[in-house]
Amino acid sequence: MSRRRPTRRSHKQADSFYTSPAWRALMARIKRKRPDRCEQCGRSGTRLFGDHVVELKDGGAPLNENNIKLLCGSCHTAKTYRAKLRRWSVSLPPPINEAP
Ligand SMILES: [Zn+2]
Repeated sequence: MSRRRPTRRSHKQADSFYTSPAWRALMARIKRKRPDRCEQCGRSGTRLFGDHVVELKDGGAPLNENNIKLLCGSCHTAKTYRAKLRRWSVSLPPPINEAP
């Protein structure tokens, strides 16, 4: 009798990075240094997320403050969504140019 457990490690690999002590320490340092507002829309008094300007998947430096922007929830969601769209569109085949 073989009982297989579903493996979960393939789901959201990046999560371990965003909960790592190194990332948390970096975020704490950035938040101390920078104004407490969204660097995209300027909203303050909201929870800020550290966002990689050049995403890790695209080869961005994970722990370089210059590669990190503080974004509010809505800007962060919008940016993540746009990055996803960009990645998807890159993987799509190029449009076929019909000869005139
Ligand atoms: Zn914002």
